[in-house]
Amino acid sequence: MAQVSLEGIRKVYPNGFQAVQTTSFTIQDGEFVVLVGPSGCGKSTLLRMIAGLEEITEGELKIGDRVVNDVDPADRDIAMVFQNYALYPHMTVRKNIGYGLKNRGTPASEIAAKVEDAARMLNLTEYLDRKPAQLSGGQRQRVAMGRAVVRDPALFLFDEPLSNLDAKLRNQMRIEIKALQRRLGTTAVYVTHDQVEAMTMADRIIVLNAGRIEQIGTPSEIYHNPASTFVASFMGAPPMNLIRAEVDQKQVKINGYDALMVASEAFSGPITMGIRPEDVELDAQGQVKFHVDILEELGAHRLLHGRIDDQPFSVMIGKEDTAHTGETRIKLKPEALRLFDKDTGLRL
Ligand code: ATP
Repeated sequence: MAQVSLEGIRKVYPNGFQAVQTTSFTIQDGEFVVLVGPSGCGKSTLLRMIAGLEEITEGELKIGDRVVNDVDPADRDIAMVFQNYALYPHMTVRKNIGYGLKNRGTPASEIAAKVEDAARMLNLTEYLDRKPAQLSGGQRQRVAMGRAVVRDPALFLFDEPLSNLDAKLRNQMRIEIKALQRRLGTTAVYVTHDQVEAMTMADRIIVLNAGRIEQIGTPSEIYHNPASTFVASFMGAPPMNLIRAEVDQKQVKINGYDALMVASEAFSGPITMGIRPEDVELDAQGQVKFHVDILEELGAHRLLHGRIDDQPFSVMIGKEDTAHTGETRIKLKPEALRLFDKDTGLRL
């Protein structure tokens, strides 16, 4: 187990491209941190620097009390699980799981005991003598996990480990990985572009955008109090509604409608206003007109996609609520409104 700290870490690739801008954060001992962001935002680069697979251009990386910038990956006391499980096809599950230990010269009896232990934890006991080709995708992913677990590392690093699995299996493995990490108490850094994985697995989420940290926070902070329109629109499905509004004498208004809330800060003029679809209600007396174009049935709830004037807007309603396409009125919960600078996208 270990704390991981990044102090002024930066990555410039040999071609001069800066993939990670100067970045500092600390991951606590035993914490599960998810790095999330769109393709190309630098999350794998960051993870690979922690793993020692990518040189750090500038800054200091510590795992525990040790500065590891120049320490070989094999000596960093980490275990990594990748998207492609990279199992040895000619070896049994037992040999695959124990391979790393054997390479380190661990005595055979100790390897056998650790492999049995890991297999029990991962429900792989009955598959120990099979080859990878005789396993399902989820079982292969568990073997890759087993290989990481037997090493008993200070730190787990996961690089999109579930992206090769179908949606149902992903949900199941997500819960298994999280539960296993909890049980072992091992610090974990997990890279994904899937915001559902980030929300459900993380103790804290780090949202990256174009090599820069947009926000670090608990899933609840990130979801309810996004630091920017980028975070608001990246996290949540459907994303937070973001529409043009204005502040006039401390009153927040959408063009042509009554005030929606009182703004405490002393600013005025055009802004971007955000609200989550579930914080809007259909209400015949509601202050805002909403034109519904499409009704999306999702079983537990329904989504109405449409427009406020010319601005796209979505509303989530319960399965019992009645709704139809066309003109209706809505009420926006004032306490759920979030205000952003219309140019920088930063929270006001
Ligand atoms: P994805 O989800 O697509 O894997 P990512 O967020 O993990 O994306 P990285 O792989 O970290 O992104 O890449 C970050 C940026 O650095 C990208 O713009 C990528 O093109 C660039 N990059 C990656 N490797 C190199 C390299 N060896 N040389 C130059 N640029 C690179």
